Amino acid sequence: MNNDDTVSGTVPQSILDALTDFPLPRDVAIPSVGEILEVDGFRIPVYRAPAVVLGCGAAGLRAAVELKRRGVDVLIVTRRMFWGTSAFSGADKMTLHTACTSDRGDDFREMARALSAGGAMDADVAYVEAVGSIDAFSGLKYLGLPLPEDAYGAVLRYQTDHDEYGRATSCGPRTSRLMVKALAEEAVRLGIPFLDQSTGMALLKSGAGESEKAAGLILHTRAHHENPYGLCAVLSPNVVLASGGPGELYRDSVYPKNCFGSLGMALEAGLALNNLTEHQFGIGTRRSEFPWNLSGTYVQVMPYVYSTDADGREYNFLADHYRTTRELASNIFRKGYQWPFHAERALDYGSSLVDLAIYRETHRGRTVWLDFNRNPRPVPGDLPFSLDRLDPDVRAYMENAQALQETPIERLRRMNPLAIELYRQYKMDLARAPIPFNVNHQHMNGGIEVDAHGRSSLDGCYAAGEIAGTHGATRPGGSALNAGQVFGRRCAAHIQARLARHPDERRTPESLDAALRRALAWFARNVGNEDGLALDEVANEIQARMSDHAGFVCHVDAVPAALEGARELNRRIAGRGLRIPDHKRIDEGILRAQTALLSEAVLHALDYYIRDGGGSRGARMYCSAQGGQAPATRLGPLDDFRVLPENLAHRREKILLRYHPDTGMQTSKRPLRGIDDTGKIYFEKNWGAYLTGAIYPEDRRTTE
Ligand SMILES: Cc1cc2nc3c(=O)[nH]c(=O)nc-3n(C[C@H](O)[C@H](O)[C@H](O)COP(=O)(O)OP(=O)(O)OC[C@H]3O[C@@H](n4cnc5c(N)ncnc54)[C@H](O)[C@@H]3O)c2cc1C
Repeated sequence: MNNDDTVSGTVPQSILDALTDFPLPRDVAIPSVGEILEVDGFRIPVYRAPAVVLGCGAAGLRAAVELKRRGVDVLIVTRRMFWGTSAFSGADKMTLHTACTSDRGDDFREMARALSAGGAMDADVAYVEAVGSIDAFSGLKYLGLPLPEDAYGAVLRYQTDHDEYGRATSCGPRTSRLMVKALAEEAVRLGIPFLDQSTGMALLKSGAGESEKAAGLILHTRAHHENPYGLCAVLSPNVVLASGGPGELYRDSVYPKNCFGSLGMALEAGLALNNLTEHQFGIGTRRSEFPWNLSGTYVQVMPYVYSTDADGREYNFLADHYRTTRELASNIFRKGYQWPFHAERALDYGSSLVDLAIYRETHRGRTVWLDFNRNPRPVPGDLPFSLDRLDPDVRAYMENAQALQETPIERLRRMNPLAIELYRQYKMDLARAPIPFNVNHQHMNGGIEVDAHGRSSLDGCYAAGEIAGTHGATRPGGSALNAGQVFGRRCAAHIQARLARHPDERRTPESLDAALRRALAWFARNVGNEDGLALDEVANEIQARMSDHAGFVCHVDAVPAALEGARELNRRIAGRGLRIPDHKRIDEGILRAQTALLSEAVLHALDYYIRDGGGSRGARMYCSAQGGQAPATRLGPLDDFRVLPENLAHRREKILLRYHPDTGMQTSKRPLRGIDDTGKIYFEKNWGAYLTGAIYPEDRRTTE
């Protein structure tokens, strides 16, 4: 069998178009209001459902579809239907990371070790993600996700970042949008109702102390006009938070615009969060043009990277960092599969020195560009760029890809024409003009502390997808999408078992009236509040502070002042309120206030980590005059960036953070959860626990 055609030249354009440019379903079911409550003269619609999912990205949709297929009537609540990271983000090959099903298969224990290799990840979660990846991707295939197969039915694989084995696969640049499409079509088939245009404002709880439980959500909605503030509530004993990552937390961010998530809401509800110090940062095009990840072939074709100043003067700045043209070009190439910034790779002329060099340029006020029409310019005194003078691994890759054409754009056309098509759709023609880019925040590895079933610290409240703190300090490319699918399924299974035990659970919290009054008071104070803080100023202040002091380069001495700045902003918000000019921006007001709290929490966790002797790990380089090695460059060491080394003991623990309005932020540590010996699980011994539902324990402590 000969099936080794490359994508370029042999695949009709219509097939390529279908992978990049396709609509998402719009015709969803609408939920019915259960009752209308009267509070202080306001009519407030209340919905009821056995389970509610906040967010309809790939994770939320998976949770909802899995719930409905298990017979649980679920309601989806979302800010904007099919808006979010899954629907609108991507990369040259957007990656899904699952156990390898081709050739000689995989080893789940090995995969779990690889997922948690950077530390700060629980062993049970890593194993659950490894094993669960098979169901995750089989389910998607069954629903029609076009995962590429070979002629024997095995899914095609490749190697991605933090992946020694080759567990990655992809449907092209828009894998996650295709996942949303497949899952949304299923949600429509199943008749799952969507409450669209609705923003999570607060978690409803019932009970107190040990018996405190989730009871639903307070929302601001534009779906009806029963009251001027769009206040409504969903009552449900099972709440799945799947509202994605905090894209609006950083100025330098490659998330689509208007992605907030709900970590601030989770903090306000007193949920435990973990690993808030862990993120992913890497190169991408900016949100002001078209936010897109620049890994894979975009850099493997070795475009010219340069910067310009305000007068348009051009700088071949990478040549100040690398010693030879060959070293410079080979490291641009390596960013293809070493995409996330990693402190270790910024030392000894590694590939993350590219990111650090970009950081230095942008801090000089320059704009950094990728030019696909020019090859890298030479390092002064060295020979010009040549495909014959590359590191052997780079040369071999380009030869195998048959990509030895004269210019980067020709090589890109050969290796991945979809990559060019994608930018063309956003009116950026890579063949005609260079594109501006920078190093951006792309993913939050930390989030809501969950157990191996996706259960948060609040009984009845679950989290799946990027909002869940399931990842450790590093994560292989594609494991974010996998984790969202696995935990979407896990929490659905647990909720089904929970409802089977308590079939009549219809919780109306005693505190509903008080929660609605609190929300009404918040609206009355902030909507039309001329003395309040302007939303744009709040956004700019948070984002600048986070990018400048809590980004991939972190000067530890500046963190305490940044934390104090974040605290002070929250005090100002509490004192003066926000200036929400009209009803159209109520949702933004809610989310900016939640983001202000989250930014304080992230800085609080960072400050705690640094005081605890934490050093560079994952995607963040901690710099200090007391640091060790300084990154070397052709022009000498960068003494301002002396690197604090990682403290390896921190790999075995997680930082937890909780917030309470009276006591503020509380930080603590816990050791990582382990896992039973999976080799001692046998059919006859363990079948009973499956049949009785004992594998879905009620008591959270039994899994810790
Ligand atoms: C440029 C880029 C490239 C990436 N590439 C990869 C990759 O190759 N592989 C990989 O595994 N991961 C990748 N990621 C990460 C991955 O895409 C995300 O982690 C994942 O899509 C998140 O899915 P989610 O369902 O958790 O959230 P989302 O897809 O963001 O969905 C969140 C949903 O919640 C709704 N929502 C948000 N806030 C609220 C609120 N307060 N109230 C009500 N509703 C709300 C939104 O409208 C949306 O429906 C990439 C991310 C980016 C930005």
